Amino acid sequence: MTASTIQKAIQASSNKVYDYLVIGGGSGGLASARRASGIHGASVALIEAQHRLGGTCVNVGCVPKKVMWNAASIAEALRDAKHYGYNDQDKPVSFNWNLMKQKRDAYVKRLNGIYERNLGNDKVDHIQGWASFVDKNTIRVQPAEGEAIQIKAKNILIAPGGHPVMPTIPGGELAINSDGFFDLEEQPQRVAVVGTGYIGIELAGIFNTLGTQTTVFSRTQHILRNFDPIIRDNLLTEMQSVGVNFTFDSKVNALKRNSNGTIQVDYESDGKSGQLEVDCVLWATGRDPNVKGLNLDAAQVESTDRGYIVVDDYQNTSVAGLYALGDVCGREELTPVAIAAGRKLADRLFGGAQFKESKLDYTNIPTVVFSHPTAGTLGLTEPQARAQYGDANVKVYTSKFTNMYFSMLEHKEPTAYKLVVTGPEEKVVGVHLLGRGSDEILQGFGVAVRMGATKQDFDNCVAIHPTAAEELVTMR
Ligand code: FAD
Ligand code: NDP
Repeated sequence: MTASTIQKAIQASSNKVYDYLVIGGGSGGLASARRASGIHGASVALIEAQHRLGGTCVNVGCVPKKVMWNAASIAEALRDAKHYGYNDQDKPVSFNWNLMKQKRDAYVKRLNGIYERNLGNDKVDHIQGWASFVDKNTIRVQPAEGEAIQIKAKNILIAPGGHPVMPTIPGGELAINSDGFFDLEEQPQRVAVVGTGYIGIELAGIFNTLGTQTTVFSRTQHILRNFDPIIRDNLLTEMQSVGVNFTFDSKVNALKRNSNGTIQVDYESDGKSGQLEVDCVLWATGRDPNVKGLNLDAAQVESTDRGYIVVDDYQNTSVAGLYALGDVCGREELTPVAIAAGRKLADRLFGGAQFKESKLDYTNIPTVVFSHPTAGTLGLTEPQARAQYGDANVKVYTSKFTNMYFSMLEHKEPTAYKLVVTGPEEKVVGVHLLGRGSDEILQGFGVAVRMGATKQDFDNCVAIHPTAAEELVTMR
């Protein structure tokens, strides 16, 4: 949109009272706005602060991350090729990070355009600018250029997402976060990644697989601390065996720029101090909700000490007519969750009587870590199930094996599966997968678990051979 088109759109919007005003053009906001207008015919405006639509997932999250994961997976396949009879290359294949970045950025830009067109097709007014509350029915929008205006609506959805947390330490500004990862023009030779949640593990895996010397700092003895031990422990062993360095029980205290341009990391680990020289330091230490500058107090919306907006099961905030969803609520921070919650909410508000109970069920949501290999998890971990149901009522089935793909290779990547079942009927309450293809395998099992499948139902399904997934229906 040009500046004058934006101004015109904004002026037109200021004269209306919308049925639904959505703050945030990311996964949740876009899905909810389009459902409300395109399917239910409500008058809807969406306010997005950035010049591009799509939010975190499209611009600095799932999409560019998966492209980089694909690039890393191709590097693995190229290394494996000679073990499958392909002639050994005289020269190792080199990876052009900058070329990949340009192609990736162009792809994301195409997606931004598609999102823009989709909003238009569904007759949602797109307003570019920064939204903040004036009162519970009125939003002030400050565009990048020109005067601020006020827009009124009967219902307002708050879906502004979140941003990376940057710990404050001396020299902390020398580090990047996941947003900065996508700005890297060249591949660093040596990198330090701080944090071992989804982002730390995914980005460390991409760096290492593409040939960057990678050191990960964990403040505990673990990675993916909240995942089932079968994933947590086997993935750690595998990452170590393919060359990722881990520094456990550690704390990064300071960063300094060396005279040769590299960065010195001063840290403590196990009570001893240490130093590491790298080209790039990446914080992956969690995310906080984007509530600063929204002036939530003007609408008296309740939030937690960390700023997450408090909502009930129906995405209602503490104020009637105001709703919130997605990362700003801090629950299951995943794109499909924000989309599903957004659509359910639009159905409930504008879909009539048949949708009056519409809400997202946040249990048994399948999720994948795009590590190398991938990890998929659904439902309760074994420790959670034991705490919830008691040891006597919980049984686990496990299988650890080498996927046939690795039969021709020297390196044997592990595959490890666990089913957590409960009660005499052995209802499946947890599925935990680590290994090649787990990202694609889990979705179907997600359907089965939602339908209340038991271990017997799994066993009654005839196996597909030879696959890794067949282990899940043949476990003893
Ligand atoms: P967002 O998508 O963040 O959208 C919020 C929008 O609101 C933004 O565009 C922002 O500019 C705008 N905004 C904020 N404040 C204002 C304001 N005051 N006025 C106007 N606009 C405002 N999830 C997955 O399911 N799979 C993955 O593989 C995956 N990978 C990820 C990788 C990374 C590196 C990261 C960081 C996240 C990843 N996620 C993944 C999580 C996923 O991106 C988020 O859960 C999802 O984008 C949340 O959607 P949302 O609508 O809540 O917020
Ligand atoms: P997470 O909360 O998953 O992980 C944060 C990590 O940082 C943890 O390992 C935590 O340690 C560590 N940490 C926190 N503070 C510090 C500190 N001061 N010093 C050292 N380490 C610290 O957050 P992420 O940012 O990785 O991801 C945010 C969310 O985004 C995820 O929860 C997920 O919902 C979503 N996401 C989803 C993806 C997917 O679906 N594939 C991919 C990427 C993100 P500890 O374990 O000790 O708490």
